[in-house]
Amino acid sequence: MAALSGDRIDRDATIGGRTPPPVRPDLAALTGYHSAQVDVAVRLNTNESPMPPPAAWLDALTRGLSDIDFNRYPDREAHSLRQALADSHGVRPEQVFCANGSNEVLQSLLLAYGGAERSVALFEPTYTLHGHIARITGTPVAAGHRTDDFRLDLDEVRRVVADADPVITFLASPNNPTGRAEPPEVVEAVLDLAPGLLVVDEAYGQFAPSSALDLVRAGGPDAERVAVVRTFSKTWSMAGVRLGYLVAAPEVVEACELVALPYHLDSAKQLAGILALQFVDEMEARVSTLKEERGKIAAALTDLPVETWPSDANFILFRPRSKDARAVWSDLLEASVLVRDCSEWPGLAGCLRVTVGLAGENDRFLAALTESLQ
Ligand code: PMP
Repeated sequence: MAALSGDRIDRDATIGGRTPPPVRPDLAALTGYHSAQVDVAVRLNTNESPMPPPAAWLDALTRGLSDIDFNRYPDREAHSLRQALADSHGVRPEQVFCANGSNEVLQSLLLAYGGAERSVALFEPTYTLHGHIARITGTPVAAGHRTDDFRLDLDEVRRVVADADPVITFLASPNNPTGRAEPPEVVEAVLDLAPGLLVVDEAYGQFAPSSALDLVRAGGPDAERVAVVRTFSKTWSMAGVRLGYLVAAPEVVEACELVALPYHLDSAKQLAGILALQFVDEMEARVSTLKEERGKIAAALTDLPVETWPSDANFILFRPRSKDARAVWSDLLEASVLVRDCSEWPGLAGCLRVTVGLAGENDRFLAALTESLQ
């Protein structure tokens, strides 16, 4: 761009190799959170559903798309989608906020409640994006630790929240990438200890035996400090749609609406979500199939030289005992099987994470892993 000097436009300034300004200093040290997107036969690295959504959903969506007024902005408040979600969870539509994937829900929470003067608490190892999005929004992160077998230690929770006085405390349940869901009594104990909002990220909630949605539904003063985050990306087989939501007190929803861009949820996405909710049985059938497959992988891993942890989700964390994790990851890639390398994440030295896929994909993963560890 030309620069002004006096009343004259100094065009030479455009030639002198001016570069864009540096990014915010607090962002400069951040690296993006990305899993490799390489062309492989078996993709077990991002915890998506290996099955497509039901054909009848796609038919209904295709028909519905032709009724959308694409020249008009979408329903800004996503009334029908929020009503459908509220009905499905037994809450009121004012308690539902939707966004482009649950990551955007998390970002909205952090934009609304975070900032440089405040902090958030989390317990590692956990979902990396909780801390990452917090840092992007300029919010300091107080990171506590889990026990050696990745459980929450309530003394550690007490210590961290007493120290940081966090505006948000994050839990992921089931926890990604370690797999276990937090029992309801643990979630309640954390809510007791945490001073601000407790965000329970249930991206894999349909695989788990319990949900913090019960706490929200129960109501009462403490329930108003719980926000449950869910997504259509996993069990609903709709990662490509980018739709997530939270269920919380209306005040929390209003806070998120304050920071959401106008019309951030396009009409096609709203329709896709509304229609998906008509296929609960099909979704639950997919969850059952994946749980069965998860059991098969878990059993097979016990015969291999790897350490594993119980999973309430659609993935399993494991640590090869006899070989470096990175070398195993490369062997698997060589066999066209992509898993997630978590070995550089806090508290996860030597660990890999495999998403539960279709039976044939899981067999291929197990065969390649067996080969690598021989
Ligand atoms: N939360 C957790 C715990 C996750 O594992 C993921 C997906 N990796 C997300 C949120 C984000 O999901 P999405 O943005 O696709 O809804």
